[in-house]
Amino acid sequence: MAKDKVIIFDTTLRDGEQAPGATMNIEEKLLIAKALEKMGVDVIEAGFPAASNGDFEAVQRIAKTIKNSVICGLARAKKSDIERTAEAVKSAARPRIHTFLATSPIHMEFKLKMTEEQVIAAIKESVSFARNFVPEVDWSPEDATRSKRDFLFKTIETAISAGANTINIPDTVGYTTPEEYFELISAIKNNVSNIDKAIISAHCHNDLGLAVANSLAAMRAGARQIECTINGIGERAGNAALEEIVMAIKTRGDFYNIETSIDTTMISRISKLVSNITGFAVQYNKAIVGANAFAHESGIHQDGMLKNRSTYEIMTPQSVGLEKTNLRLGKLSGRAAFKDHLKGIGYELSEEMFSAAFQKFKDLADKKKEILDEDLMSLVDDSLVHKKSHYSLIDLDVKSGTKKDAEVSMKIKIDSEEVFSTFRSKDGTVDAIFCAISSAIPHNATLELYQVQAVTEGTDAQANVVVRLKQNNRIFSANGAHSDVLVASAIAYINCLDKLKHN
Ligand SMILES: [Zn+2]
Repeated sequence: MAKDKVIIFDTTLRDGEQAPGATMNIEEKLLIAKALEKMGVDVIEAGFPAASNGDFEAVQRIAKTIKNSVICGLARAKKSDIERTAEAVKSAARPRIHTFLATSPIHMEFKLKMTEEQVIAAIKESVSFARNFVPEVDWSPEDATRSKRDFLFKTIETAISAGANTINIPDTVGYTTPEEYFELISAIKNNVSNIDKAIISAHCHNDLGLAVANSLAAMRAGARQIECTINGIGERAGNAALEEIVMAIKTRGDFYNIETSIDTTMISRISKLVSNITGFAVQYNKAIVGANAFAHESGIHQDGMLKNRSTYEIMTPQSVGLEKTNLRLGKLSGRAAFKDHLKGIGYELSEEMFSAAFQKFKDLADKKKEILDEDLMSLVDDSLVHKKSHYSLIDLDVKSGTKKDAEVSMKIKIDSEEVFSTFRSKDGTVDAIFCAISSAIPHNATLELYQVQAVTEGTDAQANVVVRLKQNNRIFSANGAHSDVLVASAIAYINCLDKLKHN
């Protein structure tokens, strides 16, 4: 029997970006959108165009660039929101509008100040208005899991009659449980008269750690679209994690008899890309994409694995793109080998980007004996993300020790001008570096996070530094990668200021 397909709807760029500090600029969003398209994501929710000009522009750029995924924009149930969203997605090969209205008593009474009759009228009006612009309209009853059943059924029926082809059932506050959500989706299927004209979608938040379990329960009840984010990023405890849902469906295909269109070998790369861009590190033991997810250390496990890998391995590292290739690149590798290798791990770059990445690779190969795939990913992502940056580090000189103040001097390129800056600090080298940068690029942001991680193992590994800055209640994160941790720190701080000043 042919397997049913579940639509993977990625909202990393919309719901994921709503996590404080996950703000991304247009270039970064475009990079993630291209990777999602390549991975085979069916629908990309690219943003909330009415929220700001930046959001509008990002959705528009993504709509113009992406060809193989549906591009969706979120809109409140307001004409002005829907018009703005329609304008942003209109050049997409397959444009979609996602509009919503709260249907729970608590939201209707306190947030919307609307009666049931007013909510029904607003659904009819907003959904049919959206359908004037696009063939695909997704409608969500916000806070569905806390809505009164009979009223919820009526709102869904109204939305479908008005032209919605997908009905998304959000567990907005992460309150439901798998059994309850299964029952809710089943009840919708059994009680909404025109439900066969729409696809049911799940949208779960992870406040109780149940987002993935709830999404799978919905799928068993008949939902055929799942909304999720890479690494599960999102507000509070986040959204359902795309990689966990997709790998559960793939690994347990025998049980679900359902498939997705996702190329799972892209999972590791996209997880790293999103983590680098947002500055949100992935938990060490996180399922599928954590650094420890495929490590088998205990003696009994190792013994079994040596005899037959499937004794303890339910999925292979290769299936999520963690293939350790035999071909390791080094100092002597030429352009052709480098290009070939990049292609193998999923990158096809323009000539200009390729040359920039190759130069960085050569610089790294001078300092590091063996260049691993993880190094290449961080190096290439870095050049892609920062290709249009306004600030860059030219050079850095550091003197420090146990008996004297740290002293740094550096040269920073600010647009086309080179600026020289020095600083002495009793609080160590990193403080001196950050102060020297701040005197060249004045700002009043405060440092919220400074975090160092090694990209690979060993003391010659590249360091990946994340810096998070807060200014007037806006939070920005950026990273910097380099074989020297102090240089990586300077790059991360400069990149973060670049984001803060140009967003
Ligand atoms: Zn959400």
